[in-house]
Amino acid sequence: MKIAFDNSYARELTGMYVPWHVGGAPKPELVWLNERLSADLGFNPEDLHTTKGLDMLSGTHAPEGAQAIAQAYAGHQFGHFSPQLGDGRALLLGEVLDRQGQRKDIAFKGSGQTPFSRGGDGKATLSSVLREVIISESMHALGIPTTRSLAAVATGETIMRERAAPAGILTRVAASHLRVGSFEFFAARGDSDSLRRLADYAIARHVARHDSSLTEAPDRYRLLLQHVIDRQARLIAQWMGVGFIHGVMNTDNMTISGETIDYGPCAFMEAYTPHAVFSAIDTQGRYAYANQPSIAKWNLSRLASALLPLLDPELERAKVLAMDAINTFDTLFAEHSLAVWRAKLGLDSTGADDERLATDFLQLMHNNNVDFTQGWRSLVTASQNDETALRSLFGTSDAVAEWLQRWHQRFNQSITQTIDSASISTARTASMTRANPIHIARNHLVEHALTEATERNDFLPFEALMTAIRQPLEAGSIDSKFATPAPAEVTACYRTFCGT
Ligand code: AMP
Ligand code: MG
Repeated sequence: MKIAFDNSYARELTGMYVPWHVGGAPKPELVWLNERLSADLGFNPEDLHTTKGLDMLSGTHAPEGAQAIAQAYAGHQFGHFSPQLGDGRALLLGEVLDRQGQRKDIAFKGSGQTPFSRGGDGKATLSSVLREVIISESMHALGIPTTRSLAAVATGETIMRERAAPAGILTRVAASHLRVGSFEFFAARGDSDSLRRLADYAIARHVARHDSSLTEAPDRYRLLLQHVIDRQARLIAQWMGVGFIHGVMNTDNMTISGETIDYGPCAFMEAYTPHAVFSAIDTQGRYAYANQPSIAKWNLSRLASALLPLLDPELERAKVLAMDAINTFDTLFAEHSLAVWRAKLGLDSTGADDERLATDFLQLMHNNNVDFTQGWRSLVTASQNDETALRSLFGTSDAVAEWLQRWHQRFNQSITQTIDSASISTARTASMTRANPIHIARNHLVEHALTEATERNDFLPFEALMTAIRQPLEAGSIDSKFATPAPAEVTACYRTFCGT
């Protein structure tokens, strides 16, 4: 099996990682392979099913050309700074260029101890590995930037968590694993040289991909900061549009690429509750659904702060540049967010009061305890004058009728202004369908799939859930249970755990 690994991080960023080795697994078994992704990466999926393939995916033998390393990073966790985190249970194997010529990191999660393990065992439960597989594939299918899952291996080991659990290794694919915390690591040490090398690397890899002149631009570090702010503002707006709650938005879990990373105690919400929190460790609700934009801004301020020495040699001038950049977040987020809501409402970008229309709809969902995904989806049929689904969710109150009237009026505005209203209407239904998925990874189904797979070795519920979430827009032949929320009492006490 020949895979052309490149190792630009290891080559260009010496001093920012520890060369490390893959640990291996006693009795590895490939339990899931992302065939489509492996083909996109230029791998032959059949090769990955061979013994050599399993050797690679289980960390038994590093593939030829790969140079495994544990990356150094720091991070603000729940608001408190940890100067040294790093890859304590992960390893970067190297990078490959995918079919589009894009550089992708190939990394392990759960591959054993490293110098950054800080007393942890460096392992991951198979359940947490499969959880990341499900949610990351769901996010990808929903069109939301995310790291991808290439493979899940059961290692044959049992590890101790709340109770004994089978261990697994995830092979993760990412545009890069650079995080806000990567910059904080060197800023906290006053190591401006490393900081600059890291920033130049990030610019070349993420900002200057289509314009190499940017690598020489005098204000390139400000452009890097602005780029990350814009990417993250867009990402969080997309999360909000599908009811996704990351659950542990520490700065070490915020990427420079703008991809969602580190699926720990995350969840999609069911009944719309702005302050929904699922993570068992987030006792203060710091990372609640509605807090995500302000937390993202706070995290980006940590990035701005880390970049200060690069923004301008004069600290006061650097601070002004950093503040100016951070102050763009609110406007950028508002723009991205409005675009998301407009798409969900089936509206063009001409209405002055569309944000109000969206927030009023959310309020109606909240008042009526409506499932976020179903509530939005019911607008697709309502836009075709079939309000059955919507009425069954929202009831027939005056408030609902008043909102519907406002929405219909706004919805019909541009259609009546055009001659070819029939084709406009078809196109609009298609775009509303894209914006209002029917299948998300519902918590009770995720838990059921994980329990059956890891406790009874029955992967059928997992496979069925994967089929549903990979087809997010149309019911097709998918069982309606995949589009149905759990009973309210199940959701009310649903908790997710990280550190798994
Ligand atoms: P995470 O919660 O996965 O974002 O991890 C936060 C930090 O804790 C990172 O530095 C991880 O490498 C480290 N970590 C998490 N779980 C383990 C583990 N089982 N063993 C060693 N380090 C871990
Ligand atoms: Mg992390």
